[in-house]
Amino acid sequence: MLAPPTVPAEGGFVQLTGWGGGEPEVIVPQAAEVGFNEIIVWNSDGDYLRRLVGVGHRHGIAIYASLSLSDMSGWRKRRPGIEPPLQAMNAEEDAALERIAGDSSKGKSRYQYGGEPFQPIEVLTTPLLCPHSTGVREFFEGQICDILAVPGVRGVAFDFFGYRNYRCCRCARSVAAFEAWLRRQPPQPPEKALERFSLETLVEFTNALARHARSVRSDAKVQCHVYPVFLPDPLYGNRLDVDYCGQTAAWYFEPFWGPEKIRDYSRVIFGQEKKHFSRAEGVALVGVYNRPELYPVKGPDRLTQELDAILQGGGDRVQVCSLNDVLKDAATREVFRRFFQRPRP
Ligand SMILES: [Zn+2]
Repeated sequence: MLAPPTVPAEGGFVQLTGWGGGEPEVIVPQAAEVGFNEIIVWNSDGDYLRRLVGVGHRHGIAIYASLSLSDMSGWRKRRPGIEPPLQAMNAEEDAALERIAGDSSKGKSRYQYGGEPFQPIEVLTTPLLCPHSTGVREFFEGQICDILAVPGVRGVAFDFFGYRNYRCCRCARSVAAFEAWLRRQPPQPPEKALERFSLETLVEFTNALARHARSVRSDAKVQCHVYPVFLPDPLYGNRLDVDYCGQTAAWYFEPFWGPEKIRDYSRVIFGQEKKHFSRAEGVALVGVYNRPELYPVKGPDRLTQELDAILQGGGDRVQVCSLNDVLKDAATREVFRRFFQRPRP
């Protein structure tokens, strides 16, 4: 039995964005039927995007293509023979990486895969490019140009724009940049200084690429999901000069987030969305995996509770990852269908 939603029939969310992929002719009609109005794909191939935009147009679904600091295959394709400028960690963090990577138990001892950690020290097992590298910024600028050259693409979406140890990058390039930055600052405790540097440079990395997208095409929209978590300030997303800033409101894994935490986070995500930039709209990210062989499944009752809590926290926009995990299960599709306004305002 589904818990009755508190959302009135004519109310509910105005925007539902799915991160995912697949055959355009298959996923787009299914997504439209649930009430999605945007899809972000992890595939920036021009031919694929053209097909997806065409099908999306017929079903009222806008298409974004994503860029990711984890995109090693994209790097190798665009920069053959050049080693990717990777982020680095210290010995303690590398030891945590080894422990997590070697943990083959189901659920990996409640490892959170880049969300707020459960274990005393967690790091992201996926290698990431260093945001302090000029080469990485140029790599993304090229990708943005190519994506926005596809007619009808709504914009670009940033994913994995964060640090593997959830705090900073410790590669030689980043350490040198930090030391140069520190010399221009008033004296302050070193730990706080590194946090400030890491946040300011990550924010500027995102904002510079968002400006680049708008310089390529003035009507291009920029969307993101703030991930992996930045531990000194998990809800820093309103510093990003993007159109739609997704911040985690309900993460994927056990221990699942309770309604109170989801409401509190939503109040910040939506209540403070325009603190720094008037263009910015807050978006709540809800994690959905329907893969019982790998992870505990939230199920329709919990998802209903989560969407309810976002609504109570003042939310009007939701990103869900992954779109495909929503589409594959009838009960999950029904939960989302009930919460989204149609016709769209
Ligand atoms: Zn670095």
